Amino acid sequence: MIYDLLRDEIKGFKNYEVSNIECKYKMDANEVPFSLPESTLENLQEIVKSANVNRYPDPVSIKLRDKLAEKCSASKDNILVGNGSDEIIHIIMNAFVSPDDFVVYPVPSFSMYRVYSEIAGANKVEISLGEDYHYDVVEFIKSIKEYDPKLVILCNPNNPTGTTIGRDDIIKILEVNRGITVVDEAYYEFFGETVIDLINKYKNMIVLRTLSKAYGLAGLRVGYAVSNPEMIGCLNLVKSPYNVNSISQAIALSVLEADTVKDRVEYIKNERKFLMDGLSKIDGLKVYNSQANFLLLKFDDADYVYNKLLEKGILVRDFSGDNELSGTLRVTIGTREANSYFIKCIKEIL
Ligand code: PMP
Repeated sequence: MIYDLLRDEIKGFKNYEVSNIECKYKMDANEVPFSLPESTLENLQEIVKSANVNRYPDPVSIKLRDKLAEKCSASKDNILVGNGSDEIIHIIMNAFVSPDDFVVYPVPSFSMYRVYSEIAGANKVEISLGEDYHYDVVEFIKSIKEYDPKLVILCNPNNPTGTTIGRDDIIKILEVNRGITVVDEAYYEFFGETVIDLINKYKNMIVLRTLSKAYGLAGLRVGYAVSNPEMIGCLNLVKSPYNVNSISQAIALSVLEADTVKDRVEYIKNERKFLMDGLSKIDGLKVYNSQANFLLLKFDDADYVYNKLLEKGILVRDFSGDNELSGTLRVTIGTREANSYFIKCIKEIL
């Protein structure tokens, strides 16, 4: 069963095979199209030197946690840093989910919720999103009452649909769920709403964030969890000691200090509108509203469009074979040049 699932996942990630192909516009993985901030690039040698790579990294990323805490109005005791937020989802599963426990999460959503639940041997309770992929909080509450899950995962905004769940609905879930509630805010910066301020009221909530998206550090693998200090202490017991390497810690700190994220997020949000407006005028596709840095698009023949785009040098994420997402492709918002070219190509293809 695990093998089948992982094989399916790998099939889903067929982009891995093509991402090595010379592709002019890489718009498949929800990355941002920016390199490191100028100030970080200028000081790179110093930053690498200060990382002292002959020594093991700081196992608890103290400087980085201090800076992250400042950014999200919390204390460093509220924060755990991981090798990407991916690793933290795995840590949470290891800490709290035993075989046959129930885990509740939306579908379609980030594929690793399913994979890690499967690896933990959990019973997966998959709640289908409603019309146009909107969250149906009533279905979540019904399932929580029925299954008393160890873990509920909410993805806000949701990947790959870009749809969101409102704060009031998250609170309704927190009020009924006796297990852990994870709110994955990987795309928070493009949306602007958070529930981090509720971590002390709801002690069983963990908010996940990442530097892979708005901060443009996907290759460094830095994600973080925000929760109350007891919960962070539990996760610390489970994580492997040196999970975040010294160079990643040092560069991440420098990028947070450079404080360029606001301008970059504004650029992407402006481009999201440009791409949305441009694509909405074309017949033969449906564009879903998104609060993240990607758009989900539905076509009559998504496979055909995917291959045509590839021929034209554009790589997008193909979900057309996925039961819950059939006929869809996900395009990551790029530069103005990439987005204009994308619109032009879609017009030519349809
Ligand atoms: N959560 C969501 C919703 C994601 O889309 C992703 C990456 N695609 C992750 C978590 C993992 O991000 P990372 O491990 O790079 O922090």
